[in-house]
Amino acid sequence: MSDTPTWTGGCLCGDIRYEADGEPLWVAHCHCATCRRHVASAVATFIGFDTARFRWLAPTGEYRSSPGVVRRHCARCGTPLSYESARGPDEVHILVGSLDHPERAVPSNHVWVAERLPWLHIDDGLPRYAGFGSGEQPVGFSDR
Ligand SMILES: [Zn+2]
Ligand SMILES: [Zn+2]
Repeated sequence: MSDTPTWTGGCLCGDIRYEADGEPLWVAHCHCATCRRHVASAVATFIGFDTARFRWLAPTGEYRSSPGVVRRHCARCGTPLSYESARGPDEVHILVGSLDHPERAVPSNHVWVAERLPWLHIDDGLPRYAGFGSGEQPVGFSDR
């Protein structure tokens, strides 16, 4: 572990804080209906960290949204914070809006666009995947 964490963040009230070292694995927008409900917003933007380089500094609330999936939040203020799956136990997916410096987390693609809201138009030129993206061909690079 390095002395100074590269990434820091937490919830709205400050009860929950976290730290990560090193480079993120990826940054992506998720348009799936379950993430949408968890964040109660149009899109959920995540940054992926290696679990070995990530630590929670306080215990979180958690909700098991499907088998093997844990979504964390602050039990006091309700801020949604993360997604973890037994299918990818080496990664923790942190919601970018909880970072202290979300402007540093630049997304590189969109996943689950098959479930996106029809009024949300994407014109950033990034690859869009119908599903979760891994090993998949993009369905396009914009809505046009
Ligand atoms: Zn909180
Ligand atoms: Zn999702």
